[in-house]
Amino acid sequence: MAEGIGLLRVDTPFLVGPVNVWLIEDDPLTLVDTGANTGTTLLQLRSLLAERGHGLADVGRIVVTHQHLDHMGLAGPLAAISGAEVVGFTGMDAYLADGPASALREERFDRDLMRHHGTSEDTVLGWWAARPDTRGFASEAPDVRTVADGDVLEFAGRTLHVHHRPGHSPSDLVLHDRERGTLLVGDHLLDGHPPVPVIHPPLPGAAPLGLPDPASPAAIAGERSVTARGSALLDLRASLRRTRGLGAAVALTGHGDVVPDIVANVDRRLAEHDAAAERLLAELVARGPGSAGELRLRVAPNGRSHPFFGLCDVLGTLDQLVDEGAATTTTDDGPPRYAAR
Ligand SMILES: [Zn+2]
Repeated sequence: MAEGIGLLRVDTPFLVGPVNVWLIEDDPLTLVDTGANTGTTLLQLRSLLAERGHGLADVGRIVVTHQHLDHMGLAGPLAAISGAEVVGFTGMDAYLADGPASALREERFDRDLMRHHGTSEDTVLGWWAARPDTRGFASEAPDVRTVADGDVLEFAGRTLHVHHRPGHSPSDLVLHDRERGTLLVGDHLLDGHPPVPVIHPPLPGAAPLGLPDPASPAAIAGERSVTARGSALLDLRASLRRTRGLGAAVALTGHGDVVPDIVANVDRRLAEHDAAAERLLAELVARGPGSAGELRLRVAPNGRSHPFFGLCDVLGTLDQLVDEGAATTTTDDGPPRYAAR
């Protein structure tokens, strides 16, 4: 694995399965991500730490790679037990101060987005009824230290450079150990299932939806056309290219195996996006325009992911087609409809 970094893999109550918590055995003793806020997770972390000669109270720093419950849910209880500082991207102080309220806000946003894009009401309500109340898997972490792109986290024996990598979520961070060629990436890179470009409401203090953020990587790279909302996929693609350029060797991921070849992984993801765009364009040409909700059913009728994540995938692909000039969108009455140009 990586020098001085151990893997503590804990279960989650979610479809995604276990999550990787990374333990940096340095001063301060640091957890990168936490797992969800469940008693099982806490007990698993306690015994995995004990196997390495540490107690929960020894943890001095907790870095949250992004705002998803399986990565940050237990931050509050862990900080309360250990007195550790919690570190996250700009806006995560307000977000984590009342994690349950933030989780509820996300759920409402997700449902609104599904309805807005033509998802039937039985799908919207049926899938949420089948979900546990996510608020309970979040927690309250009152004192979060925020970091931004270009900041550094100092340890006695290493320096981690902080990079903002929006796309999978607006708060995604990767931590770069230049000396060892190691990246801690959360869900920005994954070896298995491609990271979903999850659409979120803006972080506390960030620009409201509808106004493209001129500081986003996609805007800086000139890759984002001005659309009615930000594009998680276009942000993700710009972020992936920036990560590709870091020259790091190994990525320690938020789920599953490590990514042993970052350049190959990024190239595979970008190619997958291009292939999805080609397939969806062919569908629009062959069977005509549709809303994103309809198109999700047309291209993946038996999709096994939550329909919200399926919708995010389709919207991302549609953003790419619009951005490349291959498709157009109209918003008269009802849900926005997409057509081949
Ligand atoms: Zn995630």
